[in-house]
Amino acid sequence: MTDEFLQPWRRPAPLHPDEHLNSMVVRMARYGGMSVSDFRVKYLARKPGLDVAYDPRAIRRLSVIAGHDLDALLANSLLPRPDRATAEQTPWKRVAPGMLASDGAEPYARRAWSFRAFPCDLDTSEVLLKHCPRCRSVLRWDAVRIEICATCGFDLRNHPPSYWPSHEVADMRTIARGMGYGLLGAVPDAPIELPAPFDVLTPDEKLEALAWCAQLRGLIDRSGTEGSQKTAYLGLPIARSWPDPLHQIADLLTRQVKADFYGAFGTLLHHIRHKRPCSLNDAVVLEASKALDIARKTNSRPASATFPRQYLSLQVRRAPQPQLRKA
Ligand SMILES: [Zn+2]
Repeated sequence: MTDEFLQPWRRPAPLHPDEHLNSMVVRMARYGGMSVSDFRVKYLARKPGLDVAYDPRAIRRLSVIAGHDLDALLANSLLPRPDRATAEQTPWKRVAPGMLASDGAEPYARRAWSFRAFPCDLDTSEVLLKHCPRCRSVLRWDAVRIEICATCGFDLRNHPPSYWPSHEVADMRTIARGMGYGLLGAVPDAPIELPAPFDVLTPDEKLEALAWCAQLRGLIDRSGTEGSQKTAYLGLPIARSWPDPLHQIADLLTRQVKADFYGAFGTLLHHIRHKRPCSLNDAVVLEASKALDIARKTNSRPASATFPRQYLSLQVRRAPQPQLRKA
């Protein structure tokens, strides 16, 4: 790149160690007096709307234009690495209005706000907005400033902040440290500590297992929680108290279908096999059969006031009936 090419960016760009690279792109486009789309296409060789944080070539160009060390920008990127979990990102912009308001003259978007696993800011617990509170449009990266809605021009800093329950944010932080992206700044990354059989899993498998545990939690509390990275933090208490939740499900299930043990076993296997990491197969099936056996013996007694009768919202799977052949 020639000096003439870099002329609009003689002004040095601030670099925040926790900034999303798309946020820096918005700032650089404004310094250059052009739209974000034009800047991405002409200077970063990206198509409009696509994310810069995954593209090594665009990051290299950005480091030259912004005047920052390439390694510093790569550290802020979302590029995959062997020591990182494969984390799902949101393609749209999410912001914490209260934090943008406290940033002063140059608000910026944090990298951690793009992870689907976290519905709030991990430092302050402030809930992230995905839609503009005024026009309900999805927030896009091509607004002239981070704090502005690209559709209606609303200043997002004017929206009153709300906060996520702190006990759930503590579980999100544990997951964030285990994902290996350095999302908590001063607090170093660390593996997610889980009991057997989850202890031997890779970071990717642990995320998958926590999503599966969130789904099991949805069976126990009848909330119907889906298993995904978005709900993985709800699975952390389930994984930590393993195998008690499995025994709880077996117990609830045998109360529902006391007379049909094999139907209950089939139903339980169906639910525990769904979406869990394959490496857990043997350990989980063995524990499930043990849990059902214990539950069946326990539930031969009548229900008492201290052990109330309760039901799972499960569709019991019946064993297929043999097909009779016509003579
Ligand atoms: Zn709007």
